[in-house]
Amino acid sequence: MKRVFNFSAGPSMLPLEVLEKAQEELVNYRNSGMSVMELSHRSGLFMDIITEAEQLLRELMGIPKEYKVLFLQGGASQQFAMIPMNLLTKSGKADYVNTGSWSQKAIKEAKKFGDIRVIASSEEANFTSIPDVDRTMIDRQADYVHITTNNTIEGTTYAKIPDTGDVPLVADMSSNILSEEIDVSKFGLIYAGAQKNIAPAGLTLVIIREDLIGHAPENCPAMLNYKTHSESGSLYNTPPTYGVYMAKLVFEWLKERGGLREMEKINREKANLLYDALEESNLFQSPVRKDSRSLMNIPFLSNSADVDAAFIKEAQARGLETLKGHRSVGGMRASIYNAMPVEGVQELVTFIKDFENKHR
Ligand code: PMP
Repeated sequence: MKRVFNFSAGPSMLPLEVLEKAQEELVNYRNSGMSVMELSHRSGLFMDIITEAEQLLRELMGIPKEYKVLFLQGGASQQFAMIPMNLLTKSGKADYVNTGSWSQKAIKEAKKFGDIRVIASSEEANFTSIPDVDRTMIDRQADYVHITTNNTIEGTTYAKIPDTGDVPLVADMSSNILSEEIDVSKFGLIYAGAQKNIAPAGLTLVIIREDLIGHAPENCPAMLNYKTHSESGSLYNTPPTYGVYMAKLVFEWLKERGGLREMEKINREKANLLYDALEESNLFQSPVRKDSRSLMNIPFLSNSADVDAAFIKEAQARGLETLKGHRSVGGMRASIYNAMPVEGVQELVTFIKDFENKHR
């Protein structure tokens, strides 16, 4: 059985080298006589794994020392609640930008905890672009501003990260973390579910500036308080140990490939290949405004649901899997995270051309 090019939005492809390394170490990790799954989270071997994982991530993203890295659970969805629970502590107000389904979920959850204002939205444009956000729109009293840096479903991303001045910027980076270089110091908090660019599902990453920790109300449950996890080095309870191990292997893989600068170059190359093919196509197009196009999730469609369905079916027969678009957008969506090789995108582009010739 040959591996396929899997264009799933998440869980998505992991690098083959990482899977092979995990396989090699699976039943007997470093002569311990057990697998990482069976190691105590308090053991020296696991402590080395989590410490190395954090070190590598700090190196890759250039995380300043005044930021904590937390390895949590509950997915990005749990962060939708944890963020307001922990950060709405001064004015009780926060500003959110509405750029799609995941932003909407974050907004809905935050509204349970405080005074949430939507300062910009692209809903009227069907979320096919990123709205302008500038400093004058932000309430200077707000406890934070929340954005979704990459909209997995709609295939949009910010051309430029908004400047929020002294108001901490909180970002859901679930679908573009580690895909390009970013300046972590521009953010108060960054969070991401692991299942796209980091590791298997089950691990959630939070990078938080230290001054934002420790202000949650007394009745905040221990598991939902950043302070609990920060003080215990993410070992308050049993962390998702295998996920942390897989993340470490992915971080090593990224470092070996030249880090985020190199990844960004490859990711731009891959995305351009596909966007160029869509520009040339007479059958398919991208619904997204040019200045807002994601490097990670690329929706495209024809003007016929039957043609789209035939495309997805024939693509699958060529080893190009999970190309069906999200039901809210329709058509196709190619998610091309770090682990998708250039060859996968080349194959897709070739297939688009072949399909078009055949169906002309
Ligand atoms: N935010 C974004 C941008 C996402 O893409 C997703 C998952 N697809 C989520 C949040 C929700 O993540 P989780 O399933 O980890 O809760």
